[in-house]
Amino acid sequence: MTATLDQAREVLRRTFGHAEFRGRQAEVIGELLAGRSALAVLPTGGGKSVCYQIPAMLRPGVGLVVSPLIALMSDQVAGLRQAGVAAARLDSNTTLDERSATWRRIEAGELDLLYVSPEGLLQPHMIDRLARTPLALIAIDEAHCVSQWGHDFRPEYRMLGRLAELFPDVPRIAVTATADSRTREDIRAELHLEGAREIVASFARPELALFAERKRGAAHKRVTELVAARPGRSGVVYTGSRDGADRLAETLREAGAPALAYHAGLDKRVRAERLERFLAADEAVMVATIAFGMGVDKPDVRYVIHADPPASIEAYWQEIGRAGRDGEPAEGITLYGSSDLSWALRRLEGRDVEPGVKQVQGRKVWQLYAMLDGTGCRAAAVRRYFGETGVEPCGQCDLCLTPPEATDATEAAQKALSAAHRLGGRFGRGRLVDHLLGKTKEVSDFEAGLSTFGVGQELSAAGWRELIDQLLFDGLLKEDPNDGRPLIGVGEMDAVREVYRGARRVSVRRAPQAAEGGKARRARRTREPAVALRPEDQPLFERLRAWRRDEASRQALPPYVIFHDRTLSDIARLKPESLPALAGISGVGEGKLERYGERVLEIVRGEGGDRGRPELLVEHAQD
Ligand code: ADP
Ligand code: ZN
Repeated sequence: MTATLDQAREVLRRTFGHAEFRGRQAEVIGELLAGRSALAVLPTGGGKSVCYQIPAMLRPGVGLVVSPLIALMSDQVAGLRQAGVAAARLDSNTTLDERSATWRRIEAGELDLLYVSPEGLLQPHMIDRLARTPLALIAIDEAHCVSQWGHDFRPEYRMLGRLAELFPDVPRIAVTATADSRTREDIRAELHLEGAREIVASFARPELALFAERKRGAAHKRVTELVAARPGRSGVVYTGSRDGADRLAETLREAGAPALAYHAGLDKRVRAERLERFLAADEAVMVATIAFGMGVDKPDVRYVIHADPPASIEAYWQEIGRAGRDGEPAEGITLYGSSDLSWALRRLEGRDVEPGVKQVQGRKVWQLYAMLDGTGCRAAAVRRYFGETGVEPCGQCDLCLTPPEATDATEAAQKALSAAHRLGGRFGRGRLVDHLLGKTKEVSDFEAGLSTFGVGQELSAAGWRELIDQLLFDGLLKEDPNDGRPLIGVGEMDAVREVYRGARRVSVRRAPQAAEGGKARRARRTREPAVALRPEDQPLFERLRAWRRDEASRQALPPYVIFHDRTLSDIARLKPESLPALAGISGVGEGKLERYGERVLEIVRGEGGDRGRPELLVEHAQD
């Protein structure tokens, strides 16, 4: 007999403490309960995991979950155990004893969910053993890792295609938060999900306010300002290099921010320790390369700042998406420059991949910059990129709040393009500006004789720089990074000719800096606080948080595995007086009610506030 959606809803209520399915969860679960495979694309924080966890609990046999990162697995397993679900993981960190205990539970039919790494899963002895085990389903998390079009390609994911023939009767589900239509096709083909239903939720993240600005001067200074304006919150700052991460973290610490650096060049133990500190803290800034991220499910990250731009819109959405996973307001802020664009294109040129792949990736770079440097709603641009139609402007990104005013600069552009052309791509941007202004030091006869020498008196040096940036973003000029001494030359010749003819107009935005301190900033300040609470509920919320912090450190778990901020703020707001009332709050399932219910009610009643600490000391002493 197959389980029904009503039973699934019952599990959602009792075990996970949520009243109703959200978005398209019920559809995904329906497919799996019916024994069919599916491909689900749900936004970050959209609740992907219950889509396979609940069917795994309801169907006979154990549900296998393939996940790319140990951190991700251990959080999920810890969370499930807290909720009273029989879950375990097998990865390179599990001991031999743990392994045999886990296998005993599987064979006794006691386990509902087993988390494995792709490499671990495909080892012959594992496959042999699983072939003799009834399987409820196989879930492939972060399925975009299978696609080389994507940004997180993991070769070991390709091997997962074999699961189709190894377990032909087991429903499989591929889940991811970011996949454009090409990546989805790739997932289907590689994982042999040809007949599977595709369920793609909206990519809207209404809790995320997006901002982007061109880099101006010292980027580290700007990041420091941005971080300083957001005290008492958790944030992630992405940088393009390890060295950049170290230096920026240092700068931020000097400015008084609780910043930590994280990148692949650090010792494994240091990394693990910093990750743990970040996850446990209510306020911490992780300054990281993209080595930090996937699988970091800290729900209360309030902002993500790109000190250097991401690699594509997929990467952007994935990285920015780490803010506001709890559904509370959060911000994504990106700093970008025309040299970042040039570097991205140059790196691509040097990559050893098929021309077709290179072409697609080159287009992705341009699409990213079109969104960053564009003039229309950012959130809408991203959603259209992922194939959504009928998308409305978000009303809260910087471009919605302060639509840029465009000024025609075609005539000046003609001068700049012509000058770059005549200088033959042999000089950098400073020299090009000097040439236009007629200020080149020790100018050669050749240069002084060019018709473009000194023709650009109408703009200041800064004005020319701004325009050159614009021309680079438009592809009319191009920059050769030349090992850090960039050279400027003309770009697409056909397009340049159109500008010469006046058939194509060039417009520049009023300097985004003009808006700085004005509307955009005010809008930021008036945004709701991290967790919207009435002031009179705040003390209770803080007491609950303090209790959660102690409880988490006692169990050596990240705090959010116990309760999310959102659940605590609901408790602080609603002040439940009984266990059934507490159970009615989203995020409080039976397992957690039993474990923590009484204690939470005591805190709500205002009892035992001072008891927490001494008790904790005693327990530590007994350990
Ligand atoms: P992701 O899709 O990013 O993997 P998770 O599965 O971690 O998201 O879920 C994100 C959050 O949403 C979790 O706190 C989870 O408990 C919560 N959640 C999941 N399903 C529901 C639901 N139906 N109603 C309310 N909250 C839910
Ligand atoms: Zn917008």
